[in-house]
Amino acid sequence: MALITKAIKGTKDVLPFEVHKNQYIEATCLSVAENFGYKEMRTPVFEHTELFQRGVGDTTDVVQKEMYTFDDKGGRSITLRPEGTAGAARSFLENGLSNLALPQKICYFTSCYRYEKPQAGRLREFHQFGIECFGASSPLADAEIIALAKQIFDELGVSGLELEINSIGCPECRAEYHKALKEYFSQYKEQLCHTCQERLERNPMRLLDCKSPEDKALAENAPEILDYLCDECKEHFEKVKAYLNAMNIEFKVNPKIVRGLDYYTKTVFEFIASSIGAQGTVCGGGRYDGLIEELGGQKTPSLGFGMGLERLQLVMEAQGCEFPEPSVSDLFIAAMGEKAKLKAVEIAKDMRAEGFAVTYDLNDRGLRAQMKYADKTGAKFNVVIGDDEVEKGVAVLKNMESGEESEVSLVTFVNDFYSVSMEEQLKDLEINGEAFDFKSLFGGNE
Ligand code: ATP
Ligand code: MG
Repeated sequence: MALITKAIKGTKDVLPFEVHKNQYIEATCLSVAENFGYKEMRTPVFEHTELFQRGVGDTTDVVQKEMYTFDDKGGRSITLRPEGTAGAARSFLENGLSNLALPQKICYFTSCYRYEKPQAGRLREFHQFGIECFGASSPLADAEIIALAKQIFDELGVSGLELEINSIGCPECRAEYHKALKEYFSQYKEQLCHTCQERLERNPMRLLDCKSPEDKALAENAPEILDYLCDECKEHFEKVKAYLNAMNIEFKVNPKIVRGLDYYTKTVFEFIASSIGAQGTVCGGGRYDGLIEELGGQKTPSLGFGMGLERLQLVMEAQGCEFPEPSVSDLFIAAMGEKAKLKAVEIAKDMRAEGFAVTYDLNDRGLRAQMKYADKTGAKFNVVIGDDEVEKGVAVLKNMESGEESEVSLVTFVNDFYSVSMEEQLKDLEINGEAFDFKSLFGGNE
């Protein structure tokens, strides 16, 4: 097939008849985040390559293997963002948000780019809902972001996700742990994958996150970080667990979770689904107390998570979660003749100004073809306007689902439409056990 009609491997179009699902998920994420005091931020899709090398860490899979990096025409090295935290942190520093009241609670929707092997739940362009809480050191914050993610799942009706948490300590306790890991893995150096052999010296914890089955098996018996935590990290972790318990959030401690990104400290967590195959991690996050300093700012304990929106939708579909119906037009105006078209545009303008969705034919089609189109688009009501209707100033409004017809005035069309459509909605409404007397509301119109 010609390249121009073929999307890039690992990318996915969202089509107009399915986008309502994305919109619903996004609106839910945003409204929950707002309930926790978060405000949306938007940052560019590309950044200087150095930002990710520093901010994600150059011993990670993401930086070593997965980034879309290129030189622009000015010879600068540019990278399409592989994740959202580094850009948000850059903006936090560059725009002086660090001087405002802390914590700064930020959330975002981002497209992310990673050169990975595409498969179910793994794309080269994917989307994340992310939150970052810059400037919060208390374990309350760790528990709160986990609660935020959990509430999003609850509101979307997603159930059965496994929450796994761990603490990966701070640079102090990790030094001892690195030593123990190096010692352990050195015995098996020859068996390790090439990348891990290189990582063994620089960042042995990465070995626990390797996807190769042989390395995974070796990692099974590796020393566990929880045995090496310093008192402060231990206490922090205990408090996070206590706060989660207080909120009735179930979790499992999994000492093998280290997260793919270099800047994490203390708490790390993942929400994992068993229903969508191997790529089951729907949300991953944790604390990254060292990142802001690493990028040149003041020491600013911070934390956040990234939620994979495609994976989240896959889980919802696998679990049969309910989505709202796609939106349709409230009214289709079938206009025949030039005078009727003038009337149609006038009515459509007034109706749209009132917030109704209105469509009409844009192809000079005959009446039958217009009605067929209205039917296909699923419009709730239609009205046919011809010369006759224009002359008399009245037309018939038809409910496309029930077939019920009502006469409406073309002069007071918007009001009449309100009455008819409201009457429909209120018909079944009972107040105090009695059918709602709609007529009493509009009594004057009788
Ligand atoms: P994985 O272990 O699955 O590769 P990761 O540790 O690389 O995940 P993060 O960098 O933590 O993932 O990104 C946060 C979330 O973004 C993941 O939990 C997942 O839901 C989603 N995600 C990551 N990579 C992809 C991808 N290639 N395609 C779709 N979603 C992804
Ligand atoms: Mg990955």
